Amino acid sequence: MTGRSGPRATARRLPFGGVDALAFAVTTAAMEPLSAAVHRYIGHGPGWVLHRSHHDGPVAGPELNDVIPAASAAATVALFAYGQWGRGRKASRLLTPIAAGATLYGVTYALIHDLYIHRRLSLLPAHVPWLEPFRAAHEAHHRQGWGHWGILSRQRSGLPR
Ligand SMILES: [Zn+2]
Ligand SMILES: [Zn+2]
Repeated sequence: MTGRSGPRATARRLPFGGVDALAFAVTTAAMEPLSAAVHRYIGHGPGWVLHRSHHDGPVAGPELNDVIPAASAAATVALFAYGQWGRGRKASRLLTPIAAGATLYGVTYALIHDLYIHRRLSLLPAHVPWLEPFRAAHEAHHRQGWGHWGILSRQRSGLPR
């Protein structure tokens, strides 16, 4: 087997290497505490003018609070763009796996928070047992206006017995 056609040559041609995979994993893991901190210190702080719309009542159509995830998505698209086409390949190389990690978290957030917990668009089933602890925690946040800042926060109480 020659070096050019063997599995090692194939591995070298993969778009993601070890450092990229690490950047992807670290970003994905860091997004929940980052998102929780943004919710607590910005959403329930100076950003209350936007986030309040989410606490005011049941979600029907678009709400002012949607500006926050839309801005996060736009920032992630900018990271992808700079990672792909930005100057200085060394500086921009890791931006693509970082943006991919942020995207994975963003999709997870939208699925759990918007589509499941708040039943926006009525796309997901109303009751999925393993998702109920996330709903219980987030509903406690809505009732109290405090605590359970992250969307992956779980609460056992409140589960149907
Ligand atoms: Zn909510
Ligand atoms: Zn809140």
